[in-house]
Amino acid sequence: MGRAKHMMEQGYNSDIGAYICPDCIKEDGIKSFIIENSTTVTSPCSYCNNANVKTCDMGLVVGYIHECIIKEWSDPAEELPYESAEGGYQGSVLDTHDLLWQVGVNVDDESIIEDIAESIHQSHWTKNNYFSLSPDQTLSYSWKSFCQIVISKSRYFFLNAHNESYDVNQHDEMNPIKILDTVASIIKNLTMLKEISTSEEIKRVRIVDEYREATTASDLGSPPLDFCKMANRMSPAGIPMFYGAFDLETSIKETYEPEPNLTKKAVVGNFYPCRTLNVIDLSQKFKIPTIFDQDQSYRFEKRFLYDFIKDFTKPIERADRAHIDYVPTQIVTEYFRHILSKDTSLKIDGVIYPSSKNQNNKAIVIFADNDQCVEKGTKSRYTEELLFLNNFEEIELTPFNII
Ligand SMILES: [Zn+2]
Repeated sequence: MGRAKHMMEQGYNSDIGAYICPDCIKEDGIKSFIIENSTTVTSPCSYCNNANVKTCDMGLVVGYIHECIIKEWSDPAEELPYESAEGGYQGSVLDTHDLLWQVGVNVDDESIIEDIAESIHQSHWTKNNYFSLSPDQTLSYSWKSFCQIVISKSRYFFLNAHNESYDVNQHDEMNPIKILDTVASIIKNLTMLKEISTSEEIKRVRIVDEYREATTASDLGSPPLDFCKMANRMSPAGIPMFYGAFDLETSIKETYEPEPNLTKKAVVGNFYPCRTLNVIDLSQKFKIPTIFDQDQSYRFEKRFLYDFIKDFTKPIERADRAHIDYVPTQIVTEYFRHILSKDTSLKIDGVIYPSSKNQNNKAIVIFADNDQCVEKGTKSRYTEELLFLNNFEEIELTPFNII
């Protein structure tokens, strides 16, 4: 095979005659490729002229970029209908230059992008399977429809209810009720189960009137049944749970809605677990692999999870609608507590989640009722004790002293 013919078939020109160093590309996957394929040859970087760094033949780099791109992008001629009267391809099309930016080939020196774009023979691109949802879109779509069903169609028998909007014949749709199992398996695969040891302090705040006392584990722990009238993010009215945080500021912000002209008191109970607690940690941060990362594992699942957690923890005003908007998260929480526990043969005791009131901090809900919050060194009379009160502190909250 002649060399020119071979290059046409491989889809790019590898004979560029340029060398590139890892510092000239910011995209992590491509950067790693350059580092792994750098030769010891003393060819300075053709872009930053650095001669004191190992460089990689640009032809190899273009080959790698091309190989990664064609996994998800194709020729518009193969994917899209073409209507000359309608202005060409019926779908969104990018030229190679714009595609490179879009997929994250991030560079300071524009001539790097130009060299790559010129070396790739195909000039225009569109998404593979243009008219189908990508795997993460399928999951997100399914989560949105699940929320709709349990909010406005069938709250208690949704597992068996007929769902008109779900089309079993669409290859890229999944039955929305399956999203619960899917979330559970993603959580297991990404090892988001975490232990909280008995030495980790968890703070729970009660906001009381200035002259009221709250001093006992019963006062400061989960609300007693009679007082559990409010629906909350993870718990419907009537099902008490322990909402806390790991730092003072978050514990107050999660609980306190400032009221103008009113002086209130925050009583902060410092609790410790009575035994190691098993929780699901939704506050864990994941790097979502790009198409250039060699490790592509769980790429779509991580993308979906990012959206899911954002939605799961989005701020909801304590208005009339709150009890309805919390329904999906309450169902997922109940699923973690009662169904996932059976499946993992591990009792799930709670969920850690990113605080919506104090960015970059974590909040926690523990499946403990009032009887399971006890004084230090004591046992619950009726059930397994889960948290003991070590001590408490009082903080005055005035309109001028809002944490
Ligand atoms: Zn360079």
